[in-house]
Amino acid sequence: MLKALNIILEVQEIAMQMIQLMRLKSDRQKDLANINAVKGDLLGQTEAKQLEISEIKKIIRMMEGDVSDIKARIKKLEGQQNVIKKVDEFNALSHEMSQADRERSAKEQRLSDHYDKLAAEQEVLKALQENLETTVENNKVLETEINESISRINIEGRVLKSQHDELVTQADPEIYRIYERLLRNKRDRVVVPIENRCCSGCHIMLTAQDENLVRKGERIVFCEHCSRIHYWPESEALEGANVPTKQRRRRAKV
Ligand SMILES: [Zn+2]
Repeated sequence: MLKALNIILEVQEIAMQMIQLMRLKSDRQKDLANINAVKGDLLGQTEAKQLEISEIKKIIRMMEGDVSDIKARIKKLEGQQNVIKKVDEFNALSHEMSQADRERSAKEQRLSDHYDKLAAEQEVLKALQENLETTVENNKVLETEINESISRINIEGRVLKSQHDELVTQADPEIYRIYERLLRNKRDRVVVPIENRCCSGCHIMLTAQDENLVRKGERIVFCEHCSRIHYWPESEALEGANVPTKQRRRRAKV
């Protein structure tokens, strides 16, 4: 196998772990975002309900004012009626009073409806507040876990990054450049072994000629179908490149 690929293979294994970690981190961040969305939604509903209730209270205060104005007017009319001598004036006042009384009764009815509405909305608000409190409380442990997990991922990511960057300094710059461009496109292993005369990246059958070229290891050989770089796995074993096992074990901890 092409010697220069050994380092690239090591770099690639670390890169795979970094990609895996980034996916894990993004999943965890999505979990956090979901929790926050649920909380935000409940908070939004609670605030909207509080606003609604304060509007109802405002209307109630206005209506209460109206009712007591009418009551005062009726009282005044009663007072006028007591000192009136003429029958037609007396009747006119009676008429006005009964009109005012109807008005008062109608307003009181509407006021009573608003008291009922206020009580109902206050119940809804209470339920929303309880729900919000429970949600916040229930998610506390989960959020802490997620945040701790993200911190661990960050630490592990930094360790991997420094291992990765250190190895890159040892790699052949030209080959690394090619590898890196391929990796950016595929976000997957781009230096792959030939297995049963197939590219283990795209699983398409190769020719004996392709296989021989790779076996010779004199230059970089690309897969005609997926552009990945091929290597001959037997030579990996002979040269003792045992990169994957040790680092695969570390991944399980996150
Ligand atoms: Zn291929």
